[in-house]
Amino acid sequence: MNFTNPKLEIKLFDTLTNKIQILKTIEKNVLKMYVCGPTVYDRPHLGNARSIVVYDLFYRFFLQVFEKVIFVRNITDVDDKINDSAKEQNISIQQLTTRIIEYFYHDIDALKVLKPTFEPKVTENIPEIIDLIQKLIDNNHAYIANKHVLFDVSSCADYGKLSNRKIDELISGARVEIADYKKTPLDFVLWKPSDADDDPSSIFDSPWGKGRPGWHIECSAMSLKFLGENFDIHGGGADLQFPHHENEIAQSCSAHRGSNYASYWVHNGFLTVEGEKMSKSLKNFVTVFDLLNRGVKGTTIRLMLLSSHYRKPFDFNQKILEDSQKTLEKFHEVLSINDVKIALNNSQTISPEIMEFLADDLNFSKVIAFIHNQLKTLKTHKTNDILIKYISNLSFLGILDESFIVDDSAINNDLDLNFVNEQINLRQKLKAEKKYAEADEIRKNLLNLGVVIEDKPNNQSAFHFIRK
Ligand SMILES: [Zn+2]
Repeated sequence: MNFTNPKLEIKLFDTLTNKIQILKTIEKNVLKMYVCGPTVYDRPHLGNARSIVVYDLFYRFFLQVFEKVIFVRNITDVDDKINDSAKEQNISIQQLTTRIIEYFYHDIDALKVLKPTFEPKVTENIPEIIDLIQKLIDNNHAYIANKHVLFDVSSCADYGKLSNRKIDELISGARVEIADYKKTPLDFVLWKPSDADDDPSSIFDSPWGKGRPGWHIECSAMSLKFLGENFDIHGGGADLQFPHHENEIAQSCSAHRGSNYASYWVHNGFLTVEGEKMSKSLKNFVTVFDLLNRGVKGTTIRLMLLSSHYRKPFDFNQKILEDSQKTLEKFHEVLSINDVKIALNNSQTISPEIMEFLADDLNFSKVIAFIHNQLKTLKTHKTNDILIKYISNLSFLGILDESFIVDDSAINNDLDLNFVNEQINLRQKLKAEKKYAEADEIRKNLLNLGVVIEDKPNNQSAFHFIRK
């Protein structure tokens, strides 16, 4: 891919200043970004996936704009939740984290997520974490109490600046763990002692005894190692703003005098399921794997998760899933496998309009409207030039999916309409019985025969034939 537009002005909503900012990187033509990655105790759910896909799109965009992009997304493989889950399943922590990391890649690879530049694991960065904690103790920003090392929030004058709230408000508004050995309730753990029955792989030696690091210090230590004291963008889900990101700022700015830590803070919005918060107790927990298992394509999940502006809440429901699938079917209808081969063998050019929309705080809905327009043009004037651009755009956005393309040679012109109707009725019945994988099999078979099913409201379906 080659896209260079030195004049491209990138606008980003920055949570710290609470307004749109024009992105200015610390180093010319170099972009450094840190995003909080998964805690590996369970398969990624749709909320995790949304964050991953949003920052993947930022990453793809920045790769086109800057000469060098360093993107760090960590893996938290030490955590209370991991310990609890391993105990519950009666397996070792290493067995659990190895399995979940494998699942994690399986699931997000299906969403066409690119590999970040670095993916550090906490277990591989314990010495760096210990050094940073020691620095905070030496600078009088941390203290030892009851075998814990705690960050002294009162030592940090501008604590609360990311959440834009005062310390008193934060104490009353948040669920802070009360412990009598803390100087003030907001003080948080940098190092905690191990329990006697902890799995040995979660126990590390430290100057303060055997134990494991707190969650917040991990990100401060790993961003320091790979990006330095100051870097450009820190991203994550809106739920991490307080206390996690607030605490990262407090630790890093206290450890390194004069450091701003990240210049810009980007947060993606919450995800709900049919209007409700996703939670295990409501039994509405949806994982990427659940959908893949139902026969939904990863590219459909990706497009769906990007379909609301990244900062707005996203509500998952069946309709939005089906709409995303229809959009992708439509985007691929006009293509043949050969077209894709030709386009991907050519040097690819992304439409400058798409880069401009993404530069406007990642305005993805304008990008999709543009692709729809390009598709219209392509249907009337199928030239190689526009075809290559169209395919390059889909590929750049991570939504080119050859499995949507019908093999032309398989299209049967003498198709029996009764058979088509029968199959569509059978699919409706299977869907009603929640046999989604079987229903999807029928959709795929009909698609291979050149028939595209359109799902309508009230569980009705129509169909049309693919233009040859
Ligand atoms: Zn983090």
